[in-house]
Amino acid sequence: MVKKIDTTLAVLGGGPAGYVAAIRAAQLGADVVLIENKELGGVCMNRGCIPTKALLRTSEIVSILKKSKEFGIEDKGINIKWDVSNERKNRVVKSLGLGLDQLLPKSGVTVLKGRGTIQNPKMISVWTQEEEIEVHCAKMIITTGARPLVPDIENIHSEGVLTSNEALHLEKVPESMVIIGAGVIGLEFATMFSAVGSKVTILEMMDRILPIEDTEIATELLKIMKRQGISFKLAATVQRIEQTEDGLEVHYIDKDKNLTLSCEKILVAVGRKLNSDSEDFKKLGLNINNGALVVNENMETNIEGVYAAGDVIGGNLLAHLAFMEGKTAAENALGIAGRVNYNAVPACIYTNPEVASVGMTEEEASSAGIKVKVGRFQFRNNGRALCLGERDGFVKIVVEMDNTIIGGQILGANASEMISEITLAITLKAKADTIADMIHPHPSLNEAVWEACADAVGRAIHKI
Ligand code: NAD
Repeated sequence: MVKKIDTTLAVLGGGPAGYVAAIRAAQLGADVVLIENKELGGVCMNRGCIPTKALLRTSEIVSILKKSKEFGIEDKGINIKWDVSNERKNRVVKSLGLGLDQLLPKSGVTVLKGRGTIQNPKMISVWTQEEEIEVHCAKMIITTGARPLVPDIENIHSEGVLTSNEALHLEKVPESMVIIGAGVIGLEFATMFSAVGSKVTILEMMDRILPIEDTEIATELLKIMKRQGISFKLAATVQRIEQTEDGLEVHYIDKDKNLTLSCEKILVAVGRKLNSDSEDFKKLGLNINNGALVVNENMETNIEGVYAAGDVIGGNLLAHLAFMEGKTAAENALGIAGRVNYNAVPACIYTNPEVASVGMTEEEASSAGIKVKVGRFQFRNNGRALCLGERDGFVKIVVEMDNTIIGGQILGANASEMISEITLAITLKAKADTIADMIHPHPSLNEAVWEACADAVGRAIHKI
């Protein structure tokens, strides 16, 4: 006999959107069942944000050691044990996973480990290892995420051609790696492997890196990454891959010339495919546009009582946005009107130095017909940056003519930490004058945000 569970809310998918939705719904007093086929925490915790940042820490330490002489520390050579670094990364992931395993039941969420199939808007069948369970629910939230997109390139499935999933489990650092795609994943993995000794070449089909990032930031980052020894082939079209006795060959076209690159591994980082293509979604009649589940501002799909959040609804595929969308979906499903503030979504790229941005870029404001002023400040004029030996990069602040902050971009060490000040400013619709008049600790990198805001209103102190 099939087991039945009755619940207020069923959540399909236990990544950042799903587990946050489940916990928020439980906080609001609902009975919640969370259905997850693999590990809790989704891509972010198991195959994305967390393991990459754990491995990037190794690369960061190596980069600091490489300039140790500047700090009066004798360089006795660096011996990298990638297997040890990998084990450390696995421990970090495991520890966060164990935390979630405890957090969810403690929050009152029932977790079902198994594959869920939506039968109708009020029922999901779940096949666990032991049994089939029918989860009957008043409302449901779909949070099924996304997976690496594998483009249609000849021999893309050859041995040694990796997506980010496999690249996180390499036992040794490849001698050489070609990365297809100069987006967020491509640049983070290039930073990771190049610092620990891999000869990295990035092939990008556009004539620039990071197509949606501020042009000035992307241009400067390109210069810095080249200086770090990473090669870039822009406006390059990959034709096919070939397996050779020594490894792999990538055949590509660069300005009408047919060229070839040899390498040990290839990483494919050309975007992600949303997990919206399962048969049950089609049968249910969910509206899907460009692969994304369509939701309204309540995060509700076209089917009443069926909500969706996170990567599967498209837009910016960011774990922290998924947290907020999951929370908002849960609140709306339970009768509390919540909204996501899409004007203030920070996005960070963990290169060396980091990139972080929020709100509008100068270019976006200009295409939207918004007249803006731009404040700038370089880290080379910031005392803390010089003490740290991190003089690369700058802060840009985009303000409307009445000084309201509508965007900010940072290229520099710890940019991912500093962007929250600008995010808060945009959330509170603050003016640049307010940040310019706010006391920032000295010496601190954040003073560059202060100075960029002051520059936007024509009164930066240390700008040369
Ligand atoms: P992306 O969309 O950021 O970049 C893909 C790049 O590949 C683009 O520059 C594109 O022009 C290029 N490209 C596409 N097809 C190509 C081809 N055939 N040959 C050469 N170049 C090609 O995608 P991504 O880097 O795979 O990341 C996927 C998603 O995951 C993004 O939405 C990203 O924001 C998110 N993500 C975020 C973080 C973070 O927040 N730090 C980290 C990793 C991923």
